[in-house]
Amino acid sequence: MNIRQIEVKGVHAASDVRARVLIIYTGGTFGMTHDNSGALIPFDFASIVEHLPTIKNLGLAFTVFSFEQPIDSSNISPEHWRLMGKTIYDNYTDHDGFVILHGTDTMAYSASALSFMLQGLGKPVVFTGAQLPIIDPRSDARENLITALEIAAAKNDDQAIVPEVCIYFDYELLRGNRSKKVESMQFDAFDSGNYPPLAKAGVKIDYNFNAIRKPDRETLQLFTDFETNIAILKLFPGINKQVVEAVLSTNELKAVILETYGSGNAPTLPWLIELFAKSINQGVIMVNVSQCPGGMVVQGKYETSKELKRIGVLSGGDMTTEAALTKLMVLLGSYRVDRCKELFTLNLTGELST
Ligand code: ASP
Repeated sequence: MNIRQIEVKGVHAASDVRARVLIIYTGGTFGMTHDNSGALIPFDFASIVEHLPTIKNLGLAFTVFSFEQPIDSSNISPEHWRLMGKTIYDNYTDHDGFVILHGTDTMAYSASALSFMLQGLGKPVVFTGAQLPIIDPRSDARENLITALEIAAAKNDDQAIVPEVCIYFDYELLRGNRSKKVESMQFDAFDSGNYPPLAKAGVKIDYNFNAIRKPDRETLQLFTDFETNIAILKLFPGINKQVVEAVLSTNELKAVILETYGSGNAPTLPWLIELFAKSINQGVIMVNVSQCPGGMVVQGKYETSKELKRIGVLSGGDMTTEAALTKLMVLLGSYRVDRCKELFTLNLTGELST
């Protein structure tokens, strides 16, 4: 897998550009077109101007990188996140903002991952995509891309308005590590149940300045190592011991995300608590994230979560599963277990309410 810079004819504006934006095209429905048989295949991003001539009138200069083989985002992997992170890092000083065109299926995972990889980010990284391919007359691709570019370029007093990794979709700008894909048929594909939108786009783009995070350090630091020996264990009524044992006996397992009920509750079955305690004692990090898209884990609120707290399960607070997973991947890729446990419970890039 590789990424390369491509020439897109006709998009380089003349001298009076107001900002420089780097676009990374990874694939997804956004850029699908029909082959001779009518099947959907990825289009060549170099032809974007044919589909979206107004891109030339934005007063922006573009640098465009494309995955050599654009992918359906169901095939995204940490290797792809590394390519995206490195491309942003290597081209950081020369650009005012970044737009990543990405399939919607795993966009919330990628946006979460990039938010933990790019510590100290001071410029916008805006993910967007589409529910209908750009060749479709009713496609949402055009509006999503144009407004994402506007947001990536937006500055006040020469400072980026949104120095965050975020998702722009269907007239809303959401914090990336708070987002979830919630809809596969309507255009409003994303929601961030525990955090307000960072902006709403109407006739003008209304930024929610109080909700936008300011960079907490001066320089950008890139993390590119990931630990992938992590499991997500979703609890359900009737969950059986063999299944839980199978997951927890995975070789080299480093962390488990328990997807619990409501405010962090789990069955009080003694065998279940014993299996969890055994894993934690063996050094596995176990964290508690709720299956609810809104609200938060409060371990000890109900009797059904007291035991989890007692045995050392860490509360994920109001983090999404996507954020908890990618946060653990990035932390475990760089730090020792004890430090990861500490950092996991802290708000690193706006993913957690404190
Ligand atoms: N399966 C597609 C993807 O995630 C869906 C989309 O782009 O919306 O790449």
